[in-house]
Amino acid sequence: MLKGKIKEVREDGTAVIIAPIDLYKWAHRNYKECYVDFIDSRPLSDKQRRMCYALINAIAEWSGSTTEEIKEAFKMEFWAEQVETLADKIFSLSNAPMSLVASFQKFLIGFILHNDVPLKFSLLDYVDDIQDYVYKCLINKKCCVCGKRADLHHIDAVGMGNDRNEVQHLGREVMSLCRVHHTEMHTIGKKDFFCKISL
Ligand SMILES: [Zn+2]
Ligand SMILES: [Zn+2]
Repeated sequence: MLKGKIKEVREDGTAVIIAPIDLYKWAHRNYKECYVDFIDSRPLSDKQRRMCYALINAIAEWSGSTTEEIKEAFKMEFWAEQVETLADKIFSLSNAPMSLVASFQKFLIGFILHNDVPLKFSLLDYVDDIQDYVYKCLINKKCCVCGKRADLHHIDAVGMGNDRNEVQHLGREVMSLCRVHHTEMHTIGKKDFFCKISL
């Protein structure tokens, strides 16, 4: 993975990207295409920072370690897992780019779901990437509304008259719900239900 710079954005929707690629060295490989990944470099928002700290605090309380210890340990762990995609080795929660913190946040949420870390708040309010969250709830058998054990799946018949784009966009194809929330969804209807839980 290489880090390049966007030099110019053209009106026709293409861009000029400069990247330090020594292609002569690899001439025999006949490279013609490459992947482009974007780094959201807006400064980290206070909201995101608060969200990360709330998640880290919950893990710290659950594990009996200090917030600082958990923060450092998770940053290391996260870095080790993403070592191939992280361009910068070290990041700080005070000045990391948004896209990096967004994946760190997903990493924390995955840990919390996987380890049943108890929370004093609704995890749903601390989620940025709904699709990822719904998927992680599903594999960890958690209700994506309340976090309780989910034994029911609500499955939308995508492509059978539903608005396919809308469904996929919101990650609602299959979601795990506890009995209470599944019943509620069918009682008040999907639209009101999603509105209510702000999914
Ligand atoms: Zn529930
Ligand atoms: Zn259902």
